[in-house]
Amino acid sequence: MPQEKAKDHRLKAVPKFVQNDSDAMNGMDDVCPICFGTGMEIVPGKGARTCSCRKLNSQKGQFESVRLPKRYDGFHFGNYKAQNPTQTAALKSAMAFTTEYPAVDRGLLLMGSVGVGKTHLAVSILKGLTERGFSCLFYEFGSLLKEIQDSYNPSTRSSELSVLAPVFTADVLVLDELGASKPTDWVRDTMTHIINSRYNEKKFTVFTTNYLDERPNEREETLEDRVGVRVRSRLYEMCKTVMIGGDDYRKNFDRRTAAAK
Ligand code: ADP
Repeated sequence: MPQEKAKDHRLKAVPKFVQNDSDAMNGMDDVCPICFGTGMEIVPGKGARTCSCRKLNSQKGQFESVRLPKRYDGFHFGNYKAQNPTQTAALKSAMAFTTEYPAVDRGLLLMGSVGVGKTHLAVSILKGLTERGFSCLFYEFGSLLKEIQDSYNPSTRSSELSVLAPVFTADVLVLDELGASKPTDWVRDTMTHIINSRYNEKKFTVFTTNYLDERPNEREETLEDRVGVRVRSRLYEMCKTVMIGGDDYRKNFDRRTAAAK
């Protein structure tokens, strides 16, 4: 197999260094480098599972159903530049989740102030998993709540299943900006319903939030203040908390752009 063709078999959204080394597979036309055509992948310490190559989506329009906003087109692991050790660790956790899924124990809660790259990493995870053939869905939490509200039908006293069904059934769901919506009773009930349903079905969820567990100062709210004690507690069970520190990456945008010229 020519070198170029072999490269096509790599996950485009996951950099080369985290993928199985398929260079040794050059010359083995169309043989999956993970399962070697058996359809079963051996996961060290966990056993065997169906190989992701058996579930591959068609390449065309594969991100459409994920509902990624256009402005995230350029987000992928390859252009996330870790600025400090917490960002290096976050990148590692996000890439590990993407390559090891579904042999993972929990989802991720990416926590940190604005502009540290939480959404960038969450979107990179969804792109990598979509390329591996898993069904993924992205929602900014506030938009999801609005769509649920807008689809509410007073006569049936329920919201459209067309909005909620994919949220419950996606293999991996990203809920961006958890805690950003004003925490009314309805918001908390809806959030609890979604989170519990996915938890009960053993579906993995990746959350991002600008709210922290520690109160930065007296005036600021914590994540628990925003989502309630019960949801925060459930999130500990459902997700590995990944704290990301650093400055707002956008602040230095001009300096970086000038340096790149
Ligand atoms: P957050 O979700 O933490 O508020 P975003 O992921 O939306 O931050 O990042 C804001 C902008 O900065 C995006 O354009 C993103 O691509 C960029 N960005 C943030 N952190 C990094 C990083 N470490 N490397 C490259 N780009 C980054």
